[in-house]
Amino acid sequence: MEEQVQTKEKVDLKSLTKEELQEFCEEQGLQSYRSDQVFQWLYQKGVSSFDEMTNLSKDLRSQLSEIAEVNRIEPVTSQESSDGTIKFLFRLPGDEDYKVEAVMIPDFYPDGAANRLTVCVSSQVGCVFGCSFCATGKMGFFRSLTHGEIVDQVQYINEVCEEKFDKKITNIVYMGMGEPLHNYEAVVNSGSIICDDLGIGLSPKRITVSTVGLTKQIKRLADERQPYNLAISLHAANDEKRDEIMPINSSMNLAELKEAVQYFYAKLHRPITYEYLLFDEFNDSPKDARELAQIAQWAPSKVNIIMYNDVAGVALKRAREQRLDAFMKELVRNDVTATVRRSRGDDIDAGCGQLAIKEGQARGK
Ligand code: SF4
Repeated sequence: MEEQVQTKEKVDLKSLTKEELQEFCEEQGLQSYRSDQVFQWLYQKGVSSFDEMTNLSKDLRSQLSEIAEVNRIEPVTSQESSDGTIKFLFRLPGDEDYKVEAVMIPDFYPDGAANRLTVCVSSQVGCVFGCSFCATGKMGFFRSLTHGEIVDQVQYINEVCEEKFDKKITNIVYMGMGEPLHNYEAVVNSGSIICDDLGIGLSPKRITVSTVGLTKQIKRLADERQPYNLAISLHAANDEKRDEIMPINSSMNLAELKEAVQYFYAKLHRPITYEYLLFDEFNDSPKDARELAQIAQWAPSKVNIIMYNDVAGVALKRAREQRLDAFMKELVRNDVTATVRRSRGDDIDAGCGQLAIKEGQARGK
């Protein structure tokens, strides 16, 4: 009879939360400061092997490498736009060879020094929600990222920023590929690692999680008192129009969204941000602005009006400047705090709704 050799699967350390990593290290008979050291190597320094953990003894490194592994996303390419925005393409670890994109959007002081460095991270390869204007939605859905894969995007881009601007990233938005609250655990776990002093050390006030309006998860954020800002991808201010462009609205409509938003605000007293892509002659009339103003009153809020970057194969187009002006005037008349956001990086397809791996590349084939 053939002898069967059973090999135990190695533990992916980045699939563990900080507490789980502590337990794992304890089980190996290590003192608790060792777990902090490993955590720091994984998330602050972004190493991809035990050999690089130079403050661990050689014996300890070899003990760990026999039972555990360190996976890390791999940068593939980056493209810089004329406005300074940089889009990064990463390959996820593992056989599947999936890829995601993340974008760094810099703001500069008049003297040219970097002011805000905002990173937009991806949480999934593709997306199940299929919003009609969104390039990611057109890809279909492949898989969710782990919290380690989300932190890796931030860690890598942080290093690039330090090298390029001598400055760390200042803000993070979960608005890249995928619906963050459809990957709830990984998103909140990545946030806590990003905010940890042994991780990236960013204040949670600088982190915004965006959702298409998953009401249960919005309430869960509130119940768990998660410290992040909430943004709602609204894009239409009545059910009829929202149904037309965002399939989620037919199962979770604006009345349910209102209830969830008010629940969130009542528990956390944190203002809500609404993201509203302005589409030509679809959602850009003064009547649309008045409907949006009513939504803005559900709870203290601000509205970002985003100029859409046209996506190939999408009938909706960017609103004209004249209609934008009239829309903004109507919002101001209705006491809405609103800002126009010009999409950045549109010459490299890094603007809002444009993140998608080109056809056939999602699996790196
Ligand atoms: Fe998914 Fe967001 Fe795109 Fe809608 S807008 S398809 S939720 S990534």
